[in-house]
This record gives sequence, C-alpha cells and structure tokens, in this order.
Amino acid sequence: MPEVNAFVSALSQALDDSALMTGDRIPARSRSDASLSGRHLPIALVRPTSVEQVSATLRICNDHRVPVVTQGGMTGLAGGANAIEGSLVLSLERMSGVEEIDTAAGTMTLKAGTVLETAQKAAEDAGFLLPIDLGSRGSCQIGGNIATNAGGIRVIRHGVTRDNILGLEAVLADGTVISSLNRLRKNNTGYDLKQLFIGSEGTLGVITRAVIRLQPLPVGKATALVALPNYENAVQLLAKAQAGLVGLSAFEIMWQSYFGFASQGEGLKLFERSHPFAVIVEQSGTPDSAALENFLAMMFEEGLIEDALIAQSEKEARQFWAVREGAAYDRLPHLINFDVSISVGRLGEFADACEAAIREGYPDAHVAFFGHMGDSNLHIAVAVGASDPATLHAVDGIVYGIVRDFHGSISAEHGIGALKRDFLHYSRSPEELALMRAIKQTLDPRGILNPGKLLPPA
Ligand code: ZN
Repeated sequence: MPEVNAFVSALSQALDDSALMTGDRIPARSRSDASLSGRHLPIALVRPTSVEQVSATLRICNDHRVPVVTQGGMTGLAGGANAIEGSLVLSLERMSGVEEIDTAAGTMTLKAGTVLETAQKAAEDAGFLLPIDLGSRGSCQIGGNIATNAGGIRVIRHGVTRDNILGLEAVLADGTVISSLNRLRKNNTGYDLKQLFIGSEGTLGVITRAVIRLQPLPVGKATALVALPNYENAVQLLAKAQAGLVGLSAFEIMWQSYFGFASQGEGLKLFERSHPFAVIVEQSGTPDSAALENFLAMMFEEGLIEDALIAQSEKEARQFWAVREGAAYDRLPHLINFDVSISVGRLGEFADACEAAIREGYPDAHVAFFGHMGDSNLHIAVAVGASDPATLHAVDGIVYGIVRDFHGSISAEHGIGALKRDFLHYSRSPEELALMRAIKQTLDPRGILNPGKLLPPA
C-alpha cells in the first residue's frame, strides 16, 4: 500500500510521536461512539495539541484525499463520530482547558477538547452558569457539543448549544484556520460564519476553540415530581408553569411505561399508586420551594394534577432526576433510542400512533416515551428483542414515517450522524438538501470531512 505509506510518512514528518498512532497502537474505542454502531478502525489516530497541528493534519489528508473523522468524548448516539474505513481519526482530547473567563462581559473562551463538566465547574467558580448541560457532562467535550448542536435539560431556559455560542475557531478541510472568536453579543457584520460549523457534525470543518456566553449563577432551586391523568393536562400545566413560575428551568415528562420501568430500576416507589404521566418541574433562582408549592396546590385545586411531591432535600431531587435519567435502560438488551420533535400539542397523539404502529409489527415490544416536553422533544425507548441492521431499519422506518406524517423532526438534539442519514429527507426538503450540498462542496470540495455522515448521497 504505497499510498498509505506515503500518507503516514507525511504525517510523521509533521507530527511528533505522541500525536500520531497507527496500526496496533490505535485503541478499539476509536471505532464507535456510544451507539456502538461503528465497525472500522482508522488507519491513523492523530491527537493534536495545537491548532497548527490540526491544520497540518487536515492539509495532508486533503492532499492525499484521506477521510477525516473528528472525535470528542464519543458520547453521541447517532454514529456521527464513528471511524470509517481507511479514515484518519482526529481526537481533540489533548486540546483541552479554559483559556479565559471575562467576568465583565460574562464570556468563556475555551479549547474544543474541554470536558463539559470541567467547563461548567470553571464557570461556577467564577460565579456564572454555563448554560449547556446534558447527561453525559462528565465525558462529552465542548467541541462535540457544538459540532452536534447538543440539547439537554437546560434548553427550556437557555436554548440549545447554538444559542449560547458567541464565537468559534475552526479549521477547514484544506487546513485554513478560520478564527471567528467573537465575544460581542451584538455583532451584525455579515454572514454568521460560526453557525455553519455548529451542528455540522464534522462535515464542514474542525472546531478547535469557542467563546461561550455565560449566564448569572442562579441561587437556590425547587424541584417537584407531579402526577397527571392524561397528556392534555400536561399541556395545560406546561402553559401555566411557563406563565406563572419565574425561573422555570426544567419540564420533563415521562409516560407511565417509562416512569414505571425506570423507578423500579432505581428501587424507588415515589407515588402511592400508578399514574399515566409524571412530570419533573424545576424552578431555579428561588430561595425556597414556597412558590412552587403554592403553584402546585392551585393546579391540584383546578383538577389538573393528581399528586405532587416537592423535593425536601438535594437527595430527593436527585432521586427524581435518577428516574428521569433511567439507568435501567442501559441494562435493557437491544435498546433502540429515538430523539424526535413534534409540536407540543400533538406529542400525546403522536406517542399513541407510534406505539400502535410498533406493536403491529412487534406485539411484545417494550415501548416507552419520555422527554423534554418544554422543548417539544420526545425520546422513545424501544426494545423488540433484536437490534441487527435489518430490524433497526424496520423500526426506524415505522417511527420516522409517523414523524413525517406529523411534520416533525427525526432528530431534535442528537443529530443525524450515520444512523439517521437515510431518513433526513423526511424532515428536510429537496431544496434544503441541495443547498446543504452546495455549502459542503464549497467548504470541502474533495469531500474528506466525515464523508457518508449527515448528508445522504446525492
Ligand atoms: Zn434528551
């Protein structure tokens, strides 16, 4: 393989030994993200320590037409960071650290490989809230959060990752460094280039640095777990909470199918009896739970809710969240995850249609719904007893077909990656796809950046 040899020798001239691994030195975990769907080992793993090394690596890959897959914490669920055959994997793990917190402006500048939780703690130490938060905070990296436009549990209050990024530094396929490290909240000077890279899943450039907008650190929090008789009441409760609860910071719904299974997994029996729906309501920046208690008492009198538990301690609040995080699902064999968006008023109807359609093909399936109701974002946990590619494709087809019928989105927050690519046209028009391809062609004319991900072949 003279071409591979020439490529590797060009890399080893540009990079020091600690930055380059080939052959048996490449760890198996370079294959796949948390979807465990990746099968291929790359031909080289590069762990740069500087933007100059990223630039040099990309230039060499572009010259040799070798595909590049950029990897962060590998916590994604869409296969977007899976290595592909004959590729070079670029891991940003050694480009990590908070560079500066501007306390006057409320901004943080940091390197892309910084673990989210590390950045959150640095913000807190400086008296700020970093408004991006998701379950995998302990291992996901900010560069990956930005490249996938991650969602999570703070979206209802602070928006998705896209809404919290002020500036970026990114490297293009040919090695050009685009430094767009804007720190100004208002900067209306032409195309917003950073938005090209946010949510591009490594297909348009490699993000190396970012400027995040911080928020004031809220002091005090109240958390409740609320039981409801039907979905319509949950819609009314959400509207009333948004209007009447200052600092509403989470509104997370669980269908009984999910709540029952996940509580049992935690060994918890939170309500006296079973209820069709449970919702976590969280209010931030409040000295105590009095306002939340009054609000829920009113909702009870109006007949909207059947029961409510107010967390009396941090430990109790953590129990509610442990059920929502549903560790029991990690132990469920052949679990298939979905992450869809449907207009909030129709989520209940969607879930019923979805469950009925899955059961038509798989009568004994485990089908459970939960999600960020305040953001119209539903997750679906499905287990049909198998997870081979044919079964996955069949179940995907059932769920995404109904998403299309409801004019929803096949991905609310996880992204498209490798696993949803063939269904992208269910949520985006031919004209939109053509424009996406034109942008890709301009930024990456040789198609080396994460090929085969996000965009289906033309
Ligand atoms: Zn989620």
